[in-house]
Amino acid sequence: MKVVVTGGAGFIGANLLHTLVDNPLMDELVAVDDLSTGSLDNLTDLPVRLLRGTVLDAKVLDAALAGADCVVHLGALGSVPRSIDNPLASHHANATGTLMVLEAVRRHDVPHVIVASSSSVYGANPVLPRQEALRPMPVSPYAVSKLATEAYALAHASCYDQAVLAFRFFNVFGPRQAAHHAYAAVVPRFVSAALVGEPVRIHGDGRQTRDFTYVGSVTSVIADAIVRRVSAPDVVNLAFGERVSLLDLVAELESVLGRPLDRVHEPPRSGDVRDSQADSTRLRELFPSPRRYTTREGLQATVDWMSDRVLVRH
Ligand code: NAD
Repeated sequence: MKVVVTGGAGFIGANLLHTLVDNPLMDELVAVDDLSTGSLDNLTDLPVRLLRGTVLDAKVLDAALAGADCVVHLGALGSVPRSIDNPLASHHANATGTLMVLEAVRRHDVPHVIVASSSSVYGANPVLPRQEALRPMPVSPYAVSKLATEAYALAHASCYDQAVLAFRFFNVFGPRQAAHHAYAAVVPRFVSAALVGEPVRIHGDGRQTRDFTYVGSVTSVIADAIVRRVSAPDVVNLAFGERVSLLDLVAELESVLGRPLDRVHEPPRSGDVRDSQADSTRLRELFPSPRRYTTREGLQATVDWMSDRVLVRH
């Protein structure tokens, strides 16, 4: 099989490529990435062809997609705060970028597309757990752009009879997630602060909850979806129904590290949702026996991976 991963030099994309290289069914792996937030280091020593460029460039996509069996579209500008600072940039990369990818898929008759939406689309809807049929109530430009991602993908499936799988990821974490930029996600921020002996900085009271999902669980589901060409007529949550508060997360990290951590509370951030937890019924129907890691296993793997790198940086 030939598989193209947009955003392949990013956190989830690179982890997916690391999973796919071990699969004997994979003949050719291509990453498309403009390296805006991703890193070449993530692909070191992997037998993957990197096309460095934006998904907003049809020529780059044409060079990548010819003869592809599946496109996994992960390329996007992540982060709610980034989108509040620069909503147009998030819209272009995430909404227009998805349409560009889908149009390239159509030009090249790629039989299967997987796209990444986000739990942030549930936004202000207070109902838990998040069942896919709930009304989306996005509260940030990022969430709107992800709603566009999944809606464009499902519309393409309907209009052009394309096999599409639109996932809503929740809070994915693990090795290769960037820790040192202004919009870094909470797990790498906490782990890197803990490893250099700084306090963990918690926005708000820390009782907000998230469905943290280890990246290995996410990539094993996606790899299975690629091989079995899984599609679905509606979006699918890719998380397992955990509900962990930030204070629980810090406690688990303390347990992994075997020592207490200092905490500093900062004001809550606008655009953040209070609670998040997936209903995973639909996921389990499509993927009855996923390779699933616990939060603790994931945190341990993240700490192990970041330890060397944090020590090198400081
Ligand atoms: P990431 O920032 O590590 O990876 C995104 C990659 O896309 C980066 O390598 C970046 O350079 C690339 N990219 C950005 N704009 C691009 C463009 N215009 N053209 C080509 N490449 C571009 O983020 P991630 O956490 O790996 O996220 C992957 C996908 O999953 C994104 O679509 C994101 O919205 C979605 N998602 C992630 C999470 C999470 O918890 N990490 C949660 C929900 C949804």
